[in-house]
Amino acid sequence: MTVIGTRPHDQAMIESVAARLAEASAEPDQAFHPATVAALDERDEFPTTACRMLTEWGLSRWYVPKEHGGELVDYLTLVRLVRLVARKDLTSAVAHAKTFLGAVAVWLGGDAEQAKDLAARINDGAVVSWALTERRHGSDLQASEVTASAVDGGWRITGEKWLINNATRADAVCLLARTEPVPERPSGGLSFFLLDKSALAGGAYRHLPKERTLGIRGADISGIAVDTVVPPEALVGDVGDGLPLVVRCLQLTRTMCAGLSLGAADHALRLAMTYASERVVSGSRLIELATVRRTLGEVAASALLAEAASITAARGVATLTGEQGVAAPVVKALVPNLVQEGIERIGELLGARGFLTDVYADGSFAKLDRDHRIVGIFDGTTSVCRHSLIAQFPWLVRGWNGRRCDLEGVRAASALHTVPRRPDLSRLSVVARTGCSQVQSLPTLVEHVERMARSGAVPDAVARLADAVRSAADRLHQELAAQRPSAAGAPATAFELAERYELCYAAASCLSLLCFAESPTPAAHVLRVRAALAIAVMRLREFDEETTDPSASAADALEDLVTEWQHTATVPSWFDADRDGDR
Ligand SMILES: Cc1cc2nc3c(=O)[nH]c(=O)nc-3n(C[C@H](O)[C@H](O)[C@H](O)COP(=O)(O)OP(=O)(O)OC[C@H]3O[C@@H](n4cnc5c(N)ncnc54)[C@H](O)[C@@H]3O)c2cc1C
Repeated sequence: MTVIGTRPHDQAMIESVAARLAEASAEPDQAFHPATVAALDERDEFPTTACRMLTEWGLSRWYVPKEHGGELVDYLTLVRLVRLVARKDLTSAVAHAKTFLGAVAVWLGGDAEQAKDLAARINDGAVVSWALTERRHGSDLQASEVTASAVDGGWRITGEKWLINNATRADAVCLLARTEPVPERPSGGLSFFLLDKSALAGGAYRHLPKERTLGIRGADISGIAVDTVVPPEALVGDVGDGLPLVVRCLQLTRTMCAGLSLGAADHALRLAMTYASERVVSGSRLIELATVRRTLGEVAASALLAEAASITAARGVATLTGEQGVAAPVVKALVPNLVQEGIERIGELLGARGFLTDVYADGSFAKLDRDHRIVGIFDGTTSVCRHSLIAQFPWLVRGWNGRRCDLEGVRAASALHTVPRRPDLSRLSVVARTGCSQVQSLPTLVEHVERMARSGAVPDAVARLADAVRSAADRLHQELAAQRPSAAGAPATAFELAERYELCYAAASCLSLLCFAESPTPAAHVLRVRAALAIAVMRLREFDEETTDPSASAADALEDLVTEWQHTATVPSWFDADRDGDR
């Protein structure tokens, strides 16, 4: 059994939420039962009861850092809690967890008074929305047109924020605006304001209509038009500090989004195994067919790869804080894409039942397929995340060539049996000037794995896969070094390099989870590493044919993974089921 180092209070919360979700999804009329979830979705109706229950269970307290009076210390706990909810219903998870995104600018940029007040309100169940984007400007935040003009008594805020999750339901809105007069700061003229709706006069704001969406249909995806004067205390952070602040906020929110994807993956994989075990085709159960086993193995191993990257990035908030500028966009680009690809393959496996909305499992597969598409869009699209990684290529090259590595930080992020320390969020940095220790630790990790193989602790195949990743990373960094900045924007090839970098990050995460696991290394851990690494190497080879062909060891590892999955009746994960709810 893998021991997970979690604060006892966090572990108790995870187990309590898991148990309550199981209870609240057992009968057809309950809030998290697939039939209820499907019926609300069909009517585009907000999951009011489900969200109220999540608040009553105390989930909101994990959106508030401990230093402000909440419970949030370990960002992996936040990811795990969001994942538990997403496993049942992505609409509720997206709607409820939005408050963390709404509040994060105050945690990172607000003063002590603002943080204390907001913390108390969120602990009491207040909903906070995060309004960055506008109808004419989605990703390009620098082009924001909502203005905040300095006037007697504060700031006049004017304009419209659109496609904002919970804009209508929120009690408070954290909004990005162009400050006038433009402050003389290199970071530009954007600033954050926290608008408390209850303190605004009538007519100060107007909600925009709910937009109809492909997925998360019940969510409140609307907007807000504002024309009002807010007091000076509404300003969050310094005037003109909005852009660097948003970059640091995204380093926390993008990591949290991994929980949404991992929950969707758990749900899809469970449906797939149940179906494959029951369905008989030409006299055989689907699960007996080699091609079906291979599909299940590949999708489950891809989810393990995504999970490994999510774990090190989330624990890295505390242990590699200054490098989150790399880890967060890596995870936000990699995880939703690996998971969505897996969902599509499971859809094919389910045949008609993946397409019908009433016939199988209350249509929950079709819903999660539609719902999950949003995870790769909001909080920075995949391209936007890759663009942010591309901008840091020079630092990544310098870090790799100089063999810079905070190995203690990597160890603390990966030693799952240890409890992570409280993060010092003041160390979040717009640019990761030391590069990325997770990837830069690869040479050391590979040597470690080779020693493990020589001592018989892991099969030779793991050492060969590890070596293939190191060589692929070496060639990748040579190509990164050859990239030249261009006034015309990043070339298409740079986005491919970013994708390869994400795979190296995830593979390095698998290796550090192996190297720094408790001793003796649990057998299940070794199997996860074999399977997930095989997927990483297969994918790297699609871009770089010099990468060693992992086919032979991949076939064995994926088959073993499916066999273990059948045996345990639990979707494979780095966490044991009894510590992380039913999968
Ligand atoms: C359901 C839902 C909920 C949302 N919730 C919120 C919310 O709560 N708060 C909020 O502020 N916003 C929210 N949004 C808005 C969301 O963040 C934006 O839709 C998203 O950032 C993309 O913006 P856009 O669609 O305007 O595309 P654009 O920014 O116009 O981009 C168009 C295309 O260009 C690509 N692109 C953009 N920049 C680059 C680049 N540098 N390099 C390469 N390609 C690039 C994009 O990937 C995209 O494919 C939500 C959106 C949806 C659909």
